[in-house]
Amino acid sequence: MKKKAVYDYIFAGAGASTLQIIMQMLQHERFKNTSILILEENSTKTNDRTWCFWEEKSKEDWHPFVQCQWENITFTSDTAQLHEPITPYAYKMIRSNAFYTHMHELIGKNENIDLSYEKVKSFETQGEVVRVSTAKNTYTSSYFFNSILDWNTAQQQSKYPVLQQHFVGWFIKTKDDCFDPNTATFMDFSVAQKGNTRFMYVLPLSKNETLIEYTLFSEQLLNYAEYEREIRQYLTQKNIRNYSITETEQGTIPMTCYPFSKQNSKRVLHIGSAGGWTKASTGFTFKFIERKATELVDFLNDESDMRLFEKRTRFWWYDLLFLDVLAQHNHKGSFLFSRMFQRNNPRTILRFLDEKTTFSEEVRIMQSFPVGIFVWQLIRRLMRSLH
Ligand SMILES: Cc1cc2nc3c(=O)[nH]c(=O)nc-3n(C[C@H](O)[C@H](O)[C@H](O)COP(=O)(O)OP(=O)(O)OC[C@H]3O[C@@H](n4cnc5c(N)ncnc54)[C@H](O)[C@@H]3O)c2cc1C
Repeated sequence: MKKKAVYDYIFAGAGASTLQIIMQMLQHERFKNTSILILEENSTKTNDRTWCFWEEKSKEDWHPFVQCQWENITFTSDTAQLHEPITPYAYKMIRSNAFYTHMHELIGKNENIDLSYEKVKSFETQGEVVRVSTAKNTYTSSYFFNSILDWNTAQQQSKYPVLQQHFVGWFIKTKDDCFDPNTATFMDFSVAQKGNTRFMYVLPLSKNETLIEYTLFSEQLLNYAEYEREIRQYLTQKNIRNYSITETEQGTIPMTCYPFSKQNSKRVLHIGSAGGWTKASTGFTFKFIERKATELVDFLNDESDMRLFEKRTRFWWYDLLFLDVLAQHNHKGSFLFSRMFQRNNPRTILRFLDEKTTFSEEVRIMQSFPVGIFVWQLIRRLMRSLH
């Protein structure tokens, strides 16, 4: 497509949220006649993310990209040891490169979509259009979708706690068979907590290959060497000594109820993690992006004011209270997750984390936790909102 004077839509970033929205747009005739520009700073993105999520095992939408899936999960801590099937769900894994490659091919075949490798520097609404500036160009669009995370603004405020899910992962290959390829270790809290919420996450690709991630829900990142030391120690504890590291992965995911959507305006919508689409209490984002992408494509049929898109739900409040507790008592994660897994069916927990439970199911889940700590946080939160 020739450079347009005014695009219908400009997207900043070509990551999970932009590409999922584009994927959904391409399924609707209506968007075939719209002009779309995607601006991405990184022209060499490959396997920079391993996305995992659960959904009905029988659902096939993501099948072309799914590398592995598990029908059982384990949860381990000082007080809980669970190994459970999660039918009708399966926990599924996608390597990002497969999705990026597919989407780049699709974009290349659609003349109404341009992808340009440029770093977005700023954007500004001027009357009925948004002007988006890169180092080389200024582009104009009717609507602008921004997936560039404004981490500083979230961290500079104090009204909402800001934690991070941060991790280093190793893909390893062992000489002997060491893993059960049908079972994903969702959380293993048997590692030293050191005043934080720390656990191992283990996703076997076969009997002798796995992804193993040392993960924290906390405020501060660690030195890279510490994540690696913990993985090494864990493998030794499991008597896994003969292995080679085939790939590594590192990541940070925002965990906050900071309302990123406050930055939306009539013509600008923040999407993905930048729009607050990450589940604050867990860091899971991929399936929430899928849901939001479907809602957005429907929304664009009828609405023209992006401020009307986001709606706060009761799950935002649950996440906020949970994060309030975790920020104040960062060492309590193991205890709280153990209570939840000991006292509830894992399928109900997964539906709860997916924000698909009924209110009465949520009340039952709440009853798993010591009432005092959450009531105290609720009082603190309500008093804070009065000031
Ligand atoms: C390593 C890792 C693993 C994860 N695993 C999971 C998981 O298993 N399950 C899950 O649900 N969630 C997971 N997440 C969280 C979440 O799903 C991902 O971060 C997801 O990629 C978020 O999509 P996004 O579009 O918001 O951001 P991104 O996918 O990060 O896309 C943003 C894009 O913007 C580009 N960009 C940034 N700045 C500029 C600029 N100035 N100009 C132009 N382009 C710019 C970036 O290069 C990037 O391509 C993971 C996150 C990470 C980091």
